[in-house]
Amino acid sequence: MADGRYLIYYRFGDEPGAADGQQSPRQGEGARRRDGEPVPQMRWNPVLRQWIVVAAHRQGRTFLPAAENCPLCPTRDPRHPTEIPEADFDLVAFENRFPSFVDTAGSSVTADDGLYDSRPAQGRCEVIVYTPEHNSSLAQQDVSQVRKVVEVWADRYRDLGAVEDVRYVFVFENRGEEMGVTLHHPHCQIYAFPFIPPVVERELASSRAHRERTGECLFCHILEREVAGATRIVFQNRAFVAFVPFYARWPYEVHVYPRRHTPSLEEMDAWEREELARAIKAVAMKYDGLFGFPLPYVMVMHQRPTDGGDHDHYHFHVEFYPPNRTRDRLKYLAGVELGAGVFLNDTQPEEKAKELRELMPDGE
Ligand SMILES: [Zn+2]
Ligand SMILES: [Zn+2]
Ligand SMILES: [Zn+2]
Repeated sequence: MADGRYLIYYRFGDEPGAADGQQSPRQGEGARRRDGEPVPQMRWNPVLRQWIVVAAHRQGRTFLPAAENCPLCPTRDPRHPTEIPEADFDLVAFENRFPSFVDTAGSSVTADDGLYDSRPAQGRCEVIVYTPEHNSSLAQQDVSQVRKVVEVWADRYRDLGAVEDVRYVFVFENRGEEMGVTLHHPHCQIYAFPFIPPVVERELASSRAHRERTGECLFCHILEREVAGATRIVFQNRAFVAFVPFYARWPYEVHVYPRRHTPSLEEMDAWEREELARAIKAVAMKYDGLFGFPLPYVMVMHQRPTDGGDHDHYHFHVEFYPPNRTRDRLKYLAGVELGAGVFLNDTQPEEKAKELRELMPDGE
């Protein structure tokens, strides 16, 4: 791209596993900060023991442009270039124009006085555009296209995970204005972190402890219980199970687990990736069928870190958090959630699971 950011077109032939246009980001490559633009900075919170990121330039982000000015649509008129110059692709991945993590090679100013620790936010932020079509979604795309999305997630996971200093590749989708989405074109994002984020850190510690105590995988154990009880299942196929967790924090929260113990997308074979595409599309369709409008949600992928450590006890899964309590009421995070870290769910997970289960499509 003109400003030095990389962009990767994915074009799949008949074989969904084979994409061309591979071009991996290497150390020292990628977005150069434009003149005068501050490098995003990580600051350590010694009280909660976690990083926060200061990225003040993000204030200038494009905010809800009209469809004809969408920066994620392929360029139609060269006088008005978008982020994507060509139109001939299945999916495209590129560096976020307003990143929270960048390749900071050459600007490594670190300050640590024993209390306050700050350093350049070294990493990558990518955008993955699911389709050239502006008006679409995971629910509306064919399984074959969602399957390609899964392939690109797997490819980006492997590629970004191989970048030096990237310890965690976090794939997520924010959907709907309620979730702060500023662009409607179907897309997701990837943050390649230089650390393992705290939620995953906690899940890793629990699954490690569970393995030591019982010899079993925590997630396999949960899955066994959900399949046996069946009251919270929303959708299942031969390789995946989607359910509202026993301990759901959001009324319509859904987690999707592979039946086979696989720590990341990388260990999944072609058939499992196809089944994952079906399961994700099914959950998205149920969400859209719930109130008759595209339900806002956050979708995140939890998989093993890419720091070279032993994480075989970890079990890949996808988590969806829609903010709606009802058709027109949202759940807000307030005092108890934000100040105490305790979620109050005023619905029964079993009832919400039943509502979602009874919507199309049925599982197998
Ligand atoms: Zn668009
Ligand atoms: Zn497992
Ligand atoms: Zn998780």
